[in-house]
Amino acid sequence: MNAEILCVGTELLLGDTLNTNASFLGKELAKRGIFVYYQSVIGDNEGRLRQALELALSRCDMVVTTGGLGPTYDDLTKETVADYFGREMVLDETALREMHDFFDRIGREFTENNAKQAMIPKGAVPLQNHNGTAPGVFLEQDGKTVILLPGPPREMQPMFLNEAVPLLKKYRQSVLCSRNIHVFGVGESKIESMLHDRMLESMNPTIAPYAKDGEVLLRVTASAGDQETAEKMLEAPVREIVDLLGDAVYGIDVESLQNAVVQRLAQLGMNAATAESCTGGLISKRITEVPGSSEVFECGVCSYANRIKEQVLGVGSETLRRHGAVSPQTAAEMAAGVRRISGADIGVSTTGIAGPGGGSEHKPVGLVYVGIDSGFYQDVLELHLARGYDNDREMIRYLASSHALNLILKACKKL
Ligand code: AMP
Ligand code: MG
Repeated sequence: MNAEILCVGTELLLGDTLNTNASFLGKELAKRGIFVYYQSVIGDNEGRLRQALELALSRCDMVVTTGGLGPTYDDLTKETVADYFGREMVLDETALREMHDFFDRIGREFTENNAKQAMIPKGAVPLQNHNGTAPGVFLEQDGKTVILLPGPPREMQPMFLNEAVPLLKKYRQSVLCSRNIHVFGVGESKIESMLHDRMLESMNPTIAPYAKDGEVLLRVTASAGDQETAEKMLEAPVREIVDLLGDAVYGIDVESLQNAVVQRLAQLGMNAATAESCTGGLISKRITEVPGSSEVFECGVCSYANRIKEQVLGVGSETLRRHGAVSPQTAAEMAAGVRRISGADIGVSTTGIAGPGGGSEHKPVGLVYVGIDSGFYQDVLELHLARGYDNDREMIRYLASSHALNLILKACKKL
């Protein structure tokens, strides 16, 4: 079964609202073996909505819409769909009663324009909304299935999962199951060349690479009659890829590099501290984004000025004078210093030239040293991160922080 996701709302076209509904539904439909072939966004305009609906129904078995179910004049989705299928709108007594209950519960007065929301196309199945007022709609006609969901994600998501998904069971021919292999430090093209034949040959499971900000995500996806079989089919190819890429794999099905770091440190009962110059706190920001990071993170020193590198972290004045702030020696002493003052198991540091100014022939923009010190493992990476783009500064800082996080994982492996 294939589907189109049709998101309705002028705010989406104007860029005021990020279309998170499409990404949520894309993921959730795929998990249930429904292949999303198209996504469309349409404003709150009856004519264009009608056209978009006709197009979607001409090319897909199923259309899932979000938005436009509310009480106001520009909420047109239900009426447009009812009209398309030649169905009149009828009052759904249950939805009306629930709406009254909902208004009572939140202590708001029920205004009459709300009753419009309890109208659904005749013969359709209403989908209850436990987090708002507008019910959804599930409708089948002429071999097509249409699911209408509300716009606000906090209403749409539970309605889809709890009300619509049970009705989708009968369409289920296969389930899709994926493993996400997260890779850092190997480029997409290198991975592509390493896995080229495998990727071409792989029909089921499929292997697909996605590159983003210095990382590559390899998604291995199997399709089978049931979840267990699909999961079994993933085991061998995932193992093979992990063996092939070795240390470059930092996690499987983890949320992010910083999540992997927090998880790993927690497993080992260890903690880390950061001494950041060119990343200005980005490493500690990324670590502390992760719930539970307080167990594994001691402190972050944002030591931009040399004076702070010296006075707080104990970097030698001689080191700074002879080698400069951007040097492997300073990076090493920063990592050792923050480890010492915090008592953390692992100290990690960055010092570099994020640009756009401040570069020289010997120390160009993009040169970054990342230091690590875990007592018996010390290392300094020399990185050249400039790409010559306008937004290099942010990218250099971000990539440097990623390398630092990855280095923490590497230090954990050395234990
Ligand atoms: P509606 O049901 O069309 O009145 O939408 C109500 C609100 O839901 C909008 O103002 C947005 O804040 C949110 N919303 C609607 N569509 C989407 C979408 N595709 N992704 C994320 N949020 C949305
Ligand atoms: Mg709207």
